[in-house]
Amino acid sequence: MKSREMVMSQNNPSCVVDPDEDRIREECGVFGIFGMENAASLTALGLHALQHRGQEACGIASFDGEKFHTERHLGLVGDNFTGSDPSERLQGHVSIGHVRYSTAGQTTLRNVQPLFSELSTGGFAVAHNGHLTNAYSLRERLVESGAIFQCTSDTEVLIHLIARARAGDFMDRFLGAIRQIDGGYAFVCMTSELLIGARDRFGIRPLLIGRIGDSYILASETCAFDMVGAEFIREVEPGEVVAINAAGIRSFKAFPDARSRPCVFEFVYFARPDSIVGGKSVYEVRKRMGQRLAQESPADVDVIIPVPDSGVPAALGFSQELGIPFELGIIRNHYVGRTFIQPTQQIRDMGVRLKHSANRSMIEGKRVLLVDDSIVRGTTSTKIVRMVKAAGAKEVHFRSASPPIKFPDHYGIDMPTKEKLIAANYSLDAMTEMLEVDSLGFLSIEGLYWAMGEEYREGEMPQYTDHCFTGEYPTPLIDRDRQLGTSKQLSFLVEVA
Ligand code: AMP
Repeated sequence: MKSREMVMSQNNPSCVVDPDEDRIREECGVFGIFGMENAASLTALGLHALQHRGQEACGIASFDGEKFHTERHLGLVGDNFTGSDPSERLQGHVSIGHVRYSTAGQTTLRNVQPLFSELSTGGFAVAHNGHLTNAYSLRERLVESGAIFQCTSDTEVLIHLIARARAGDFMDRFLGAIRQIDGGYAFVCMTSELLIGARDRFGIRPLLIGRIGDSYILASETCAFDMVGAEFIREVEPGEVVAINAAGIRSFKAFPDARSRPCVFEFVYFARPDSIVGGKSVYEVRKRMGQRLAQESPADVDVIIPVPDSGVPAALGFSQELGIPFELGIIRNHYVGRTFIQPTQQIRDMGVRLKHSANRSMIEGKRVLLVDDSIVRGTTSTKIVRMVKAAGAKEVHFRSASPPIKFPDHYGIDMPTKEKLIAANYSLDAMTEMLEVDSLGFLSIEGLYWAMGEEYREGEMPQYTDHCFTGEYPTPLIDRDRQLGTSKQLSFLVEVA
């Protein structure tokens, strides 16, 4: 692929539309495999299964015993790694891959992963899901001491920290680097000899180990194992680093005091419904969210309609609990990206109309109850409600299968600043009015924990990373108000494919 590069000044309005919208937030999927012929082909398939975690860019790296190969693209896996067998170009028995989803105003090719570097120890490629909460401070320190950064992604600090580590073998250096970073992360990395996986000390972002024949696989979700016919072995533990080669798996405890607090949003929105997270079926948990929501916030209506696709399992649970018919009253166009991908509010508004249409025959003259997995800014719900009313609904009620989102995320989920979160700023009555609905209801935090098969213990350390609902952040938010995209050493570089 030919690429043209252009340096844009920081005050160019097309580059920085709105500092909040423009900052780089990555919500990604990662995959890696060691010891399989044509490893890159399996990586492409695994990434295809993880496509829901990121649709803006994708990339694969491989090592053929002599040379590293990488290919990085803007766009979907299916559009970039099909046609011919990817492993013809990306040869070798070890490979890693990445799908990326960011709300950054400019998704530039230089931020697309895997990132690759030549270190004194040899080639190193990294794919990362999550966000490092102290990346800005580390980057500032590294730049001051002479490091030259190539991209605006927080992932690159890991490479510089490894490059500067002096003592021991590669794994000593890697562990030394990992111990300096904080936040929510799942790294899948490769050298000429190893496939490496690392998970943050609270296990906020997911990372799992699977096996196919004698080969080991690392992936963000079990649906990637299903795609390539691999069996799930176990999760990478919170704070664990695994190094995989032909001899098997070596495990290192990077953080001996690690404890498990996986992100609750994997259940609410992120993971594919057929994935198993923490031993639980995501689909079943989402149905239970709907079941409990129906108990907590019932309504006398004629039909339960999901906001597709993410509201479907909860709407089913809601309908079955109350014995009210479930119908597909909204049809989703699958050829439009997720609502959040478009950077401006105006385009995001349009995105909703592009994405959803009313199925009038299921709506006209009926009292309708809509179920979505969550309400973030309130943009999707407002548009959907108007659309359903325009299709002739007699009454429209809205239910969110998760509690009110009151706090932003800092661990790699696209969750805006507090000012933009509708539930952080308005009461239930005010939101009911703003959404123009006859009634509005949210799942309680107790209900959410119940759906996951747990008990919510108020005042105690939560079992999950649930700060979006509770404000309980598991780690200190060191660089909360400092974004990498606003670093003074950076110009904004746009690569046009
Ligand atoms: P909003 O329109 O801002 O209220 O967003 C709510 C919609 O966005 C719901 O339909 C959710 O399925 C979806 N959603 C929830 N969380 C996220 C996220 N982190 N990234 C992208 N979309 C999301």
